[in-house]
This record gives sequence, C-alpha cells and structure tokens, in this order.
Amino acid sequence: MKAFLNGKFIEKKEKAIALEDRGFTFGDGLFEVLRTKNSHIFFFEDHLLRMKYSAEFLGIPFPYSFDYIKEMALELISLNKVNDGELYIELTRGTDLNREHRYPSEDMQPTFFMLAFPLRQIDPENWKHGATVFPYPDLRHRLCEHKTINLLPNVLAKNFAYAHGGYEALMYREDHMGKYVTEGGSSNYFIVKNGRVITPEIDNILPGITRAKVIKILKSHGIEVIERRVYLEEFLNADEVFLVSTVSKVMPVRKIADREFTAPGEITMTAMKLYGRLMEEEKGRH
Ligand code: PLP
Repeated sequence: MKAFLNGKFIEKKEKAIALEDRGFTFGDGLFEVLRTKNSHIFFFEDHLLRMKYSAEFLGIPFPYSFDYIKEMALELISLNKVNDGELYIELTRGTDLNREHRYPSEDMQPTFFMLAFPLRQIDPENWKHGATVFPYPDLRHRLCEHKTINLLPNVLAKNFAYAHGGYEALMYREDHMGKYVTEGGSSNYFIVKNGRVITPEIDNILPGITRAKVIKILKSHGIEVIERRVYLEEFLNADEVFLVSTVSKVMPVRKIADREFTAPGEITMTAMKLYGRLMEEEKGRH
C-alpha cells in the first residue's frame, strides 16, 4: 500500500514522519475523511474548503492547490487499486524539534499526507433496521467547528457506545434547561417530530458536509428543517432519529440506549433515498 506524503508517494509502512511532528506532540493539525468510488471522490471541494478554512483559522499554511491534491489523490487511489473506498487527508503544523507549545511564526513546513484504503465494513443491518446509539457527555474543547486531530473525547464516546453493543455515541452538553445533544463521535444527528426535521445548530459542533447536503435536499423536497438547540428529552420523544456522515451516509437510529424508534421512519427513508440520488448525480457529473 502506498501513501502520499509531502509531495511524494511512499510505502505506507515506511516510518516517514518525524517523532517531533506537532501532530503527535500537540495534536496540532486537521484531518478529512472522504468517500471514493473508482476514480470519483465525493464532495471533494466541500471537504477541502472546510480544511483550508480551518487551516487559515489555525494559522497552518495550506500547502497545495485543490487541483494538485485531487490529482495526487486519484493517483493514490489508482496505485492502491481501491474501488469503493475512503480517502484520509491529514495536515499538521509540521516538525518542531523544540517541542514548545508556541510555534515558530516562520519556517514551519506543514506535514500533509493522504491514505487511500477500502471502505470500512459496516453491518448493513444498521441501514436496514437502524443503529443503536448511546448518550455520552461531550467532553470536548471550544474548537469543535474545526476538524482537528484532537479526538480523545470522540474516541472515548464511540468506544463507550461500541463496548455496549452500539454503533455511535450521542454526545450531549448541559445548560440550565438540561442535557442538549451536540453530535456523534463522528456524525451529526437529526430528529423528526410531527413531520418537521430538527437538527442541532452549528454551535461548537462540526459543520458536517453530509449534514449540509441533507438539510439542502430535504428543504428542496419541501420538508421543513430547523436548526436550533435540541434537548436529549426531545430526542427521546422524537418520531424518528437518524445520523449522517461521509461514511455512514444517512443512517436510521433504532435505539437510544433502551428507547426504541421506528427505523427507518418515513422521512428518514426519504432522506436516505435523496442522499443516495445526490451521490449518484454527483458521480455522474464528473
Ligand atoms: N461530527 C464529527 C465530530 C465528525 O468527526 C464527523 C466526521 O467524521 C461528522 C460530524 C460528520 O461530518 P461529515 O459529514 O463531513 O463526514
């Protein structure tokens, strides 16, 4: 298996990144996960724009043009003979031998690498009859609108869900009204109540690419979508619940811990169908 690192294709097993890379020592970096099919990369521009915007916010130089990255990514997919797959991109601030929190203002060469591998195996039952998710406290910082590689709280949350036989965590924070849902360890959530779709607003959560696509297609299908704070209680009393992400696409939720829902519900099925169609259309256009 090959990887792309700083302008070159290397063997993936090569130990090519310095131990003092700030990605390792400080979690000082960003990542993206994209879906690929043969020689198509889904929503490439959306993912790269998100990464570039966050790199600018964090002051990490964005090293390449989108065209160059796409060309190299397609080459990597072809070298690794990946048909249905995932493209992982990581950008860190680079190597800093001093290991000091503050970073040098100049002369930092960012580390940019890409991996292309077959799509992870997910039990299709999750789409057919719905996934089980478990509430877990959102222990993260205030940078959740950026896809940073600081994922320890997400790791703990997803691992908790997995250890209890679930697929994903349902992370929540608390305010004076009680627990409100933020997002999953690696997905965004929606509920359906009385024919309306409601999803947590972008308030220190990741603006998911799939989330944005799903909101748009539901709205253009005439379904009302509201973005606001959504309490855990509302999730438990919803008619339908579903989660979305690049890898999970649109996935119905059958259970939140012991609370059961109809899965997939009617609107969830519409969202699944419309999103599937959007992916097909996008693939057809390129
Ligand atoms: N929320 C978090 C915390 C994530 O890490 C991810 C993806 O990994 C998502 C939401 C879904 O985002 P996207 O639809 O862009 O894959």
